[in-house]
Amino acid sequence: MFRTLSSLAKSPITAASRTASRSSLDSLSKRSCQQFFVSCHQQIRKMSEEVKAQAGRPEGPTIFSKILDGSIPATFIHEDDMCVAFMDVSPQAPVHFLVIPRKPIAMLEEVEDSDSALLGHMMIVANKVAMKQGLAKGYRVVVNNGVEGCQSVYHLHIHVLGGRQLNWPPG
Ligand code: AMP
Repeated sequence: MFRTLSSLAKSPITAASRTASRSSLDSLSKRSCQQFFVSCHQQIRKMSEEVKAQAGRPEGPTIFSKILDGSIPATFIHEDDMCVAFMDVSPQAPVHFLVIPRKPIAMLEEVEDSDSALLGHMMIVANKVAMKQGLAKGYRVVVNNGVEGCQSVYHLHIHVLGGRQLNWPPG
């Protein structure tokens, strides 16, 4: 933006250059505004997930049990008899999907020894779907647990994020 403004300031002002300047400024400011609003929208969504997480574990069916019974739509990218994977509605990376068990386990801290085959299967599905989504250069797997882990939906889920260079440590 500065470079564009300073080069505009140095150039001799003619009617043609004024019109060109105005239209390039218009498209620049339109693009900047769009980027600004997209970034605000993402920040607000992120904050609302964090606020939801602070509320702790709610009563009743979760949004993911509604996705499983088909009463809420989702973009499914994998389905089998133990788990499903679908795109996160508020992606935090170019590719962001969730793997959830059909069994209604609220959170990682509630898994039992008898869930080990299910958990192993979910990790294998996470990797296979990541490869199908083009994440051969790498990806991150995250499980948020409880209030301090920033869990907002109390149906166990594995986040898989990739498609850009991820930073470490996470916030
Ligand atoms: P967590 O904060 O670990 O509990 O993650 C919950 C995730 O579920 C967030 O990344 C949300 O964006 C995502 N999410 C919430 N509702 C939906 C939905 N209807 N479809 C897909 N993802 C959702």
